[in-house]
This record gives sequence, C-alpha cells and structure tokens, in this order.
Amino acid sequence: MLRSALLVATLAPLALGCGAAPAPPTQSQNPADFVLLGGAVRTLDPARPEASAVAVRGDRIVAVGTDADVRAFIGPETRVERLSGGAVIPGLVDGHCHLHGLGAALESLDVRGKKSPEDIARLVAVEAKGRAPGEWITGRGWDQNLFTPAAFPTHDPLDAASPDHPVALERIDGHALWANAAALRLAGIDAKTADPPGGRILRDSMGAPTGVFIDNAMDLVTAKMPGEPPAVIERRILRAAERALSLGLTGVHEMGIGDATVAVYRKLAAEGRLPIRVYAYLAGGPSLSTLSQRKPDVDPQGTAMFVLRGVKLFADGALGSRGAALLAPYADEPKSVGISIADRKTLTDAARIVADAGFQLAVHAIGDRANRDVLDAYAALGEGRARALRFRVEHAQVLAPEDIPRFAALGVLASMQPTHATSDMPWAPARLGPDRLRGAYAWRSLQNVGARLVFGSDFPVEETSPLLGLWAAISRKDPSGAPPDGFMPEESLTLDEALAAFTAGPAYASFTEATHGRIAPGYVADLTVFAGALAADRSLLDAKIDRVIVGGKVAFGAAIPKPEAP
Ligand SMILES: [Zn+2]
Repeated sequence: MLRSALLVATLAPLALGCGAAPAPPTQSQNPADFVLLGGAVRTLDPARPEASAVAVRGDRIVAVGTDADVRAFIGPETRVERLSGGAVIPGLVDGHCHLHGLGAALESLDVRGKKSPEDIARLVAVEAKGRAPGEWITGRGWDQNLFTPAAFPTHDPLDAASPDHPVALERIDGHALWANAAALRLAGIDAKTADPPGGRILRDSMGAPTGVFIDNAMDLVTAKMPGEPPAVIERRILRAAERALSLGLTGVHEMGIGDATVAVYRKLAAEGRLPIRVYAYLAGGPSLSTLSQRKPDVDPQGTAMFVLRGVKLFADGALGSRGAALLAPYADEPKSVGISIADRKTLTDAARIVADAGFQLAVHAIGDRANRDVLDAYAALGEGRARALRFRVEHAQVLAPEDIPRFAALGVLASMQPTHATSDMPWAPARLGPDRLRGAYAWRSLQNVGARLVFGSDFPVEETSPLLGLWAAISRKDPSGAPPDGFMPEESLTLDEALAAFTAGPAYASFTEATHGRIAPGYVADLTVFAGALAADRSLLDAKIDRVIVGGKVAFGAAIPKPEAP
C-alpha cells in the first residue's frame, strides 16, 4: 500500500517534466521510447505477476500490461519489438561475486576439472615456455577432491614443470594456494616459517612446507607478487563485465575489493563506461581502522552504476579445504573443527565499527560455528540495528537448526549460492555427517522461517551464468541432471522464488527495492530478455539471452527496431 502511494508520487513529476505537444489524445501524447510486445513477462510484482508487454521511457518502466494496454504508449518515434513469447524478467543480479576476480581469472591459467597434479603441471609447463624468466604464473581452480587419492598436492610436480618461474595456483574455492619451490624461495618460506593466525602451512613429516597454504597463510606467498596497475584492473573489469552482461546479468554485488579497484570502478562509472551496475563491498580487515573517516555511497534513485556501501569480512574458510569453522569436529577428520579466521569477539568489535560508520556488513561464514559467531555479533549490536543496516551473512552454508530462525528474527540477509550445493554434494556429506547435513545449503528452510534470500554464484569460484544457479535452486541437481531425485530435494525453491532471490533479493540487499527487482511502472528499466519462454525444468539451462537492458538502454543484444513507415 505504502509502496504504490510512493510510486504515484515519484511518477508524477516525471510525467509533468515531459511537457508535450497539445494535439493527440491517449497516452501517446507522452509516448514511450520503446515497447516490448508479445512477451511472457514475469513481473515479480504480486499485484500483476504476468503480462505480455512493457513500455520504457528514459531509464524507467512506464507501463506493464497486455499488448493492448501498452500499445497506447506507442508514438511516431517509439521503437517496437515483438518478442513472440520470449520471457522478460527483472534484470538478473548476482548477489555475491567477484567481478574483478573474474577478469583476473579470465587472464590466468584455468585448471578447473583437472584430475591429477601432473595434468595441472603439464599446463604450467606450457605456460612457462611463453613467459619471461622470473615472471609469475598464476592460476585457479584445482580441487584435490578430483585427484586419486583425494590428497593435497605437493610442490614437486610444479617444480619439474616450472623450475624458474614462481607458480601460485589458487584452489577452486580461493581458500588454499598451491605454490612451487621458486615461489617459496622468493617468499622466504621454509621449515622455520610459523603458521600465521587464521592460516595453516601444510608440512611434511620433517616440518618442511609441502607447497599448500590454507587461508591466511596464502598471504605469505601472495604478498610477494607484483601488484596490478590500474590499466590492468580496468581491462579486467571491463572484460568480466562484458561476459556477465552476455549471460544475462544487469548488476553484480562485488564482494571484498581494495581501494585501487574502487578507484578504477569510480573512474569507469564517471566516464559512463561501466556497462552493468556494481554494488560493492570493501575488503574488510585493512579498511576497518579508517572506516569512520569514510561515508557510504547512497543511491536513492537506483540509477548509479557504482555504489560502495558495504564491508566484507571473513569468519572462517571453506568446507572443501576443511577451513570452515564447525561446532563439532569434521566427520572425516575427527581432530579438526576448522579455522575461525575471526572469532566472536573480533566479529562483535568489527560489526560495531561498521555499524557506527553507517556501512553494511557482509561476513563470509561457512561452518555452523562461524555462522553462530556472526549471528551473535550482529545480535550484540542491539535491537534492530543489523536489520536497519541490512547486515548479511555470505554463504550461510552450514547452520545449526536452532540458528535458522535467527536470520528472520534479526533481519539478517542469507546470501547463498545455489551452485555451491551442487558442486559440494559429492563430498559435503562426508565432511559433515548426516545430522549436520540437514542444516546445510538450507535455502528452503531459511525462506520458510521468513529470512530474506539473496542469491549469487560466487563467480569465478563457480560458473558465471545465473541460469546454473536458477537450475540448482529449483532442482538441487547439477547441470547433467544428477542426482535423479536431487540433493536434499526438500530444500528446493519454485522458479519464481529462485528468480526473486536473483532480483528482488539483491535489490533489497542494495537498498534499491523501490526501484529494482520488479517490472512495474516507476521502476528502473533493468531487464533480462530471453529468446523463448522460461520453464521450471532443465530447458532452463539452454535458455538463450536475447537482450540485456540496463537503465532503459540495450547493453547486450540487437538494437530495438526503429518504427516502420506507416
Ligand atoms: Zn566470494
């Protein structure tokens, strides 16, 4: 009710502003710039869930309805597209990803899916041939769960492949680094090097580093790598943004970037060169001490291309590398409960600093202990504060059953990545055991208690396409359709619920729910248009992106046809 009153109020000045010629009657005295007709429009607006046509003027949607309703907005200059049943949805937004990271990944060695350390070493050897001596070879995507046996690799195969070039390859989840001896030498790491807080150096029986560094220990190596100049950051962001657009995204929530990357984003946005909306979170640790001197960006019209309003922190590591902090030991490693990167006290202090500075906090929490620590830290802020600032938990992956209702009670957003469930399902049951599994990847349970879901992919950890996430969300199956009944299928969502988590959810998380996440008059015209209809089955994975419209402009796909001569 309140919302529709607001909409009328915001629309009125827009309509008045376009003072028009006196002549023709009907709506066409204030015609649309373009209309889409004959589509399957899923508005995600409860007042009118389905429609066939949309009219857009400037950067706003001005009409939604039947073709007949919307034809009234066609004037002599209005461009018209007939969609022949193609789906139109609010622009898809990845609610947790690494856009700059995707750009870097697109330019580094991709070792995903490789079945042995030797297979990866062969790729490194080819790469080393093309590089100047001493130049770093970086890459990403190995997963020891695919090796036989499923053990962490050592530096030996990388040394044989690349004796002179330092090599550093990130694990698929970004929570472990595999380096060669040249990299260890450059970083000055040997048996005497101690494990840093929140990190672990894997060692042989003599205590010598084997080449794998977990969580905070990764910094021992990465700190020695040369930084990226702004021109390289810019090239990578633009490359990744084009890719994201081509896959149907109109916006992303960029998780955990430093000031150098922020500066490049601000420049691109100011120059009108950023093709998708980026809602960003500062990488927490280093930014906390100076946060009180900064101001969060605000975007009341929902029109900004870059907004920096959040801070990202880590409470623990990842489940795959057994870095996730659990309340009870790992089912498959009874001596370990994982690693708390930040404990409850540290998180409580950090949450207060972030709240006092007016920023939004997003904390990575995978294990049930980490999730409880974050919820406790948010609760300690006092009544309603976490809700007002829309604090988030990133991944919320393994939850103690009694913590699930706390997301709704505290107004904390559950930022989840459906493809993590289907990527992890081969080994997550072994890590967690059957009882704990019931609180893992539990998006249906969270939604049922009234928690708000924000869906994303965590790319480049997972594939960039949001269609994969939508499919995992509704089916709990991987792209091949396995397992046939789905992994814990009781946790699946309907297609409209999953679409909402990729549109309205991120809109709420970025404080733009009055202008984004819905196809309705007055909303910003960020739209994803498909060549065909969307069905809640595996055909979803083959849905073809026809156009991506950002702020009323076609950002991907063909221009909308000019009006034909009468
Ligand atoms: Zn992430």
